[in-house]
Amino acid sequence: MELYSQKEQQEYLNQMWRNFTINDTYEPGSTFKIFTSTMGLEENVVSENDKFVCTGSKVIAGRTIKCWRSPRSHGDETFVQGVQNSCNPVFMEVAERIGASKFYDYMIKFGFKSKTDIDLPGEAIGILHSKSNIGPVELATMSFGQSFQITPMQLLVGASATINGGYRVTPHLGKEIINDTGDIIQTFNYEKGKQIISTQTSERMKKILETVVSEGGGHKAYIPGYRIGGKTATSQKLPRGSGKYTASFLAFAPAEAPKVLALVIIDEPKGTYYGGVIAGPVMHEILENALPYLGIEPVYNEAEVKLDETQKMIVPNFVGMTSKDAKTFAKEQGIQVDINGEGEEVGAQFPLEGESINKISKIILYTH
Ligand SMILES: [Zn+2]
Repeated sequence: MELYSQKEQQEYLNQMWRNFTINDTYEPGSTFKIFTSTMGLEENVVSENDKFVCTGSKVIAGRTIKCWRSPRSHGDETFVQGVQNSCNPVFMEVAERIGASKFYDYMIKFGFKSKTDIDLPGEAIGILHSKSNIGPVELATMSFGQSFQITPMQLLVGASATINGGYRVTPHLGKEIINDTGDIIQTFNYEKGKQIISTQTSERMKKILETVVSEGGGHKAYIPGYRIGGKTATSQKLPRGSGKYTASFLAFAPAEAPKVLALVIIDEPKGTYYGGVIAGPVMHEILENALPYLGIEPVYNEAEVKLDETQKMIVPNFVGMTSKDAKTFAKEQGIQVDINGEGEEVGAQFPLEGESINKISKIILYTH
């Protein structure tokens, strides 16, 4: 007996293989503030030290639109602090200075109304207001990433242009083909893409976004020895008031010459739902693994060199010790061990003797 009909089977398969990154659209929320900032710098209507005042809301065409911090406010802040604070009134103001028509043109340039042309089928495109329908209220909400939808991949392609020198790249999956002996059979060469913002604006954005991780809401992604830039977002899902959220974090590293750009989206988190708080640690883990894998070595500053987590040690030998002696020895040396098994003697250890590891890493001991 068949469990599912042919049609049901197909539907379940589609569900299972659905790739949210390109098949579905979502409201990006505050990660989109990267683009409002970029447009503002590029149009020369705002610069890093411009002064703003957040009173907790801003009146747009007779409607009061709140800052996320309402009923509290951010008070006096510079533009850079506004980005760090993710302060909505700052972005409404910048969008107003840019104007609806130019703002919309940038949305098109960043690719939010076209496919990214990634080498995967079934790509969706953004759902945007038409240019003629963008009034002051629509523009204000768009400035902080609401009232339109894009795919996560569109967000990444656009964000990449803001930090890669200004080029709208086409995402690809393959780099080269190698055979079983490791020889390169074919290398894929891709075009650089069209330049849509200036290199100077891109350089300025990298610096601003680095301060969001070092000083603003993205500090949970901080990794000693690496400079990371990014922006967090916490958005209420539609319909608003449903109590469902999307928490996200877009980050790139190393901030001075980015090699990795990543987006973590947590759909309908339970409990704490702030992007910086719950998506930040996930991003931390991704970058902590990806950067050394890509051969990018950490460079510690003076303060970081003194941190426990950057101290190195050479793994001593535990094999042959009794469990009790191993415990005492580890305690004397200030090493954390995790003893597995019920045996009397340590039979194996990981990592092996002589390896260099972080001082806060645990050494796993197996007894027999
Ligand atoms: Zn504010």
